[in-house]
Amino acid sequence: MKTINIFGVTGSIGLSTVKVLKQHSDKFTVNAVTGGNNVKLLAQLAIELNAECAVIANISKLDELKSLLNGHNIEADCGEDGLIRAAEREVDICMAAIVGYAGLKPTITSLKYAKRVALANKECLVTAGELFLAEAQKHGCVVTPVDSEHSAMFQCLQGSQTSEMEKILLTASGGPFRTHTLAQMQDITLAQALNHPNWDMGAKITIDSATLMNKGNELIEAYHLFPIELEQIEVVVHKQSIIHSLIQYHDGSVIAQLGTPEMGTAISYALGWPERLKLDFKRLDLFKIAQLDFEPADEQRFKCLYLAKQSVIMGGTCGAVLNAANEVAVAAFLREEIAFLAIADICEQTINLAQSRDIIINADNINDVCEVDQQARIIAKSLL
Ligand code: NAD
Ligand code: MG
Repeated sequence: MKTINIFGVTGSIGLSTVKVLKQHSDKFTVNAVTGGNNVKLLAQLAIELNAECAVIANISKLDELKSLLNGHNIEADCGEDGLIRAAEREVDICMAAIVGYAGLKPTITSLKYAKRVALANKECLVTAGELFLAEAQKHGCVVTPVDSEHSAMFQCLQGSQTSEMEKILLTASGGPFRTHTLAQMQDITLAQALNHPNWDMGAKITIDSATLMNKGNELIEAYHLFPIELEQIEVVVHKQSIIHSLIQYHDGSVIAQLGTPEMGTAISYALGWPERLKLDFKRLDLFKIAQLDFEPADEQRFKCLYLAKQSVIMGGTCGAVLNAANEVAVAAFLREEIAFLAIADICEQTINLAQSRDIIINADNINDVCEVDQQARIIAKSLL
């Protein structure tokens, strides 16, 4: 039996993780589960999974959590400190599936107490890639990627040396506005942006997929996870989302990983690696798919992708600045306070202002990153 903590159990990745675990209840036992706000679902899952502890991030919901768990012998905890306490529970695996910067501190803490972190929270690598991976190495924690593209790369690398890689081909669906002109993008509504053609995900990453900031984040994620230069990572728009990414080797061979557009396989690979867990999910039907299309990504229409590349080139805390600006802008777009195209503009202007105010620095520790995050949020909010 492997012990597992599930951070963000009430979200899209969290619920998919629960589906995987239910097919392997003989292999995993759940220790802590955490949620942001949805206390009823959190309590229900904690009971279903027979967890030892449930943590709700919203402190005003602790009493409700306690009463929902009454009689079940499950500890209830809350707030950011409660998330850290959950991360300090020693387990074999931590599923890191909180969305956004909120996941950084609990996930970094987990690197010390878990043998493996299955990493869904890409914002950890975007904001603090080098520090995060150095911390993992220091504690001997294995980080397995959950993001489908990085899981694909990781799978394509099995049996090969990373030094034999020539190129990473990072696939992108292109999102709902793949063929829109910039003029057409002026009038995009929230409902249109939330309607992803292939993937069913949380709201923030769905908007990131529409702006291609998600692909930008994934480019940064790949840059940190694998020993490769930025120029060796190419984004390939592949509208069917069947090939989840490819590795080109120095003998010209290109290895791809394919699957249906759902997260079960990537999650189970991150949990089971180096083994493959048997999964009872939908199988790929190549005859039904019949055709796979590829096109280059357009960084002029999708400026967020360009900004993500720039942030790698600038280095230091630029990723943290970009992430903070994007989180502020996406939250405002979700409240229908700003236009779709304003998301990229706010990100760009925040980076420019952060640069002129010397906020983009080489961070020595995670507190520096948190400080930069706060300052970048203030700038981004002033631009809304
Ligand atoms: P989601 O919004 O569906 O779920 C997020 C989870 O985090 C929920 O449990 C929520 O309650 C919790 N949460 C939110 N704010 C919090 C806070 N301030 N403190 C503590 N907990 C908080 O998001 P998701 O789609 O499951 O994505 C989770 C992460 O996985 C993101 O980083 C995303 O980029 C990444 N990811 C998701 C997918 C996908 O298919 N959904 C694919 C690849 C990567
Ligand atoms: Mg992805």
